[in-house]
Amino acid sequence: MLEFNIKNSQGKARSATLKLNGNHIDTPCFMPVGTAATVKAMTASEVYDFGFKIILANTFHLMLRPGVEIISKHGGIHRFMNWAGSIITDSGGYQVFSLAKLRKITAEGVYFNSPIDGEKVFLDPKKSIWLQEQFGADIIMQFDECTPYPADKGTADKSLELSLEWGKRSKDSIAKDESNLFGIIQGGVHDDLRDKSLSGLLEIGFDGYAIGGLSVGETSEERNAVLDNIAHKMPSNKPRYLMGVGTPVDIVEAVLRGVDMFDCVIPTRNARTGFLYTKKGVLKLRNSKYKGDMSPIDEDCSCYTCLNYSRSYLRHLDTCKEILGLRLNTIHNLYYYHELMKGLRDSISLDRLEDFVREFYNSQNQEI
Ligand SMILES: [Zn+2]
Repeated sequence: MLEFNIKNSQGKARSATLKLNGNHIDTPCFMPVGTAATVKAMTASEVYDFGFKIILANTFHLMLRPGVEIISKHGGIHRFMNWAGSIITDSGGYQVFSLAKLRKITAEGVYFNSPIDGEKVFLDPKKSIWLQEQFGADIIMQFDECTPYPADKGTADKSLELSLEWGKRSKDSIAKDESNLFGIIQGGVHDDLRDKSLSGLLEIGFDGYAIGGLSVGETSEERNAVLDNIAHKMPSNKPRYLMGVGTPVDIVEAVLRGVDMFDCVIPTRNARTGFLYTKKGVLKLRNSKYKGDMSPIDEDCSCYTCLNYSRSYLRHLDTCKEILGLRLNTIHNLYYYHELMKGLRDSISLDRLEDFVREFYNSQNQEI
């Protein structure tokens, strides 16, 4: 159900095609986040038409609201939200540890209070996998514990052991042939623990492998060091997914180290606060200097927003908290991310990745 074919590689970076239940996805790819079965402010067809062929939805949020029965009634998330592409769901583990009031963690699973109505909820590998299969996800993530940062070696080790055990139980819980299960490498910023986590996961065997527990407060140097150690050791014939990362710079650095898949709320969340990505760096729309600025966000951008609207108008919408502003800003940031990924893919295929990365860095941090 999952095929991964490398087309080209340059250094550790690779471009590939991911075939997923009949859908073709070019990698390296970015997966916009649709937390509550919607990429905020966008219709599903708008996101698809940008060229995004896979999005991420959050099991934790969807199990609490609207609940699995409602989504099953629609035949899964795809039809629930009218999404034509593929869907990856997270296991719910990360949100349990970051958002919910925890009651108890045992080797069996986690008890927590729902942040919506305070109700006591239990989540374990079996239930997480069952939920993700009911949602109809094309890629399912194992249930894991996101190791907190900072974590001393003993804590990180204990945490990764628990995640390995849950990884095995996640795999044993898979019931549908079309489910593709990814294992998650933990181990904090400790190279030997990352190695241990990966070798444990390889023994279990997964359809793809993810690097978890990053973007949780570590520095970019620490993050890149983890990637330097582990990314190239992950199976080369399976997709490599870096969870929850990141900024355009983070993504470029991870692609250089051999990562294929990314998800992050950054482009959509930042868009809604007027924090916009351009080829010259970041533009903060709330800066008063844009009040009468007639130019588009980015003169080199061909998105609907840049072709039709001035910075001045977009700043006005943001000031007045107009809904249209959220939409137009999100259109631009998602378009930027898609162009960035396309640029990375094309340059790997054309053997000019180094030039692309040099141009990327040279053009950043200019006066906008
Ligand atoms: Zn634009």
